Amino acid sequence: MPFRKRPSGFDHSLGPTFDTEKFSDLTVKCGDKSWRLHRVILSAHSPVFEAACSQDFKEAHTGLFIIQEQDPRIAEVVLKMMYKAHDSHRLFRDLFENLATEGISNPYTIWVDLYKCADFFQIEWLLSYIEEVMLEYAEQNLNPLYSTGASRLEYVVPNLQDQGGPRDAKEVADFVEGIRYAIGIFGADSVIRRFERLLYFCAPELPILMVSKCWKKLCQDAETALFTSRVFSLHFCGETYACQDLEILELPEGCWGCDHVLTEISARTPTDPARYYCNTCWPILREWLHS
Ligand SMILES: [Zn+2]
Repeated sequence: MPFRKRPSGFDHSLGPTFDTEKFSDLTVKCGDKSWRLHRVILSAHSPVFEAACSQDFKEAHTGLFIIQEQDPRIAEVVLKMMYKAHDSHRLFRDLFENLATEGISNPYTIWVDLYKCADFFQIEWLLSYIEEVMLEYAEQNLNPLYSTGASRLEYVVPNLQDQGGPRDAKEVADFVEGIRYAIGIFGADSVIRRFERLLYFCAPELPILMVSKCWKKLCQDAETALFTSRVFSLHFCGETYACQDLEILELPEGCWGCDHVLTEISARTPTDPARYYCNTCWPILREWLHS
């Protein structure tokens, strides 16, 4: 493939124009922030900007575009992505670090905010990209066998040996809070497309999710229960690739709470978290889940 390699420097020529304001012809404002940007670049990425910059809209005459109902810190990153997507890792990392200093440390809720803003501007490639990085991160943090073997299980399921009693692993709690946050913004039933990949992601992970207390909470609320019921039906009833993935997941065969070897798990129904625990560990977990 002689044409596979991209000419170097292309991305880097465009990127700085975000900061230099050179040849800018549109002011974009969000909350207390504003930027001098370029109609042609914004319109190339976003149908919303394209419409606003066309003759019939007032923005075309005033040269001012006001972003409503978005967090200015998030909006800034989305605008920058239209100029310097090649630097996405640094843009996201800086955003996460800045928000962490303000006590916002759940990466999933930040991704959901970025997704919401990209959705506001209808930037299809950015929506796909955010989904991609978020689910890749979740895959690495929720799947106990992803990189370091079965020992990682203790980080994603409740630790039954903990002196203060079982509690949710942070990885799972953050993930579930992110789902709840997304459903709060978009509504589980409004546009299924938004949640389709998340559903297919959750389905094979269900055994891990359903032994956490936060997942139980997600089942109790009417709107979020719609989402969880879809995950359950995908996992247990669907002729879906999610079910094939489940076989690949290869969950540990022993008890998730101790090293006990499970011999009669096949007698227990797969919808029951009891399937993954021995007769000593299961009552402890059950009491915690229902308390
Ligand atoms: Zn056990």
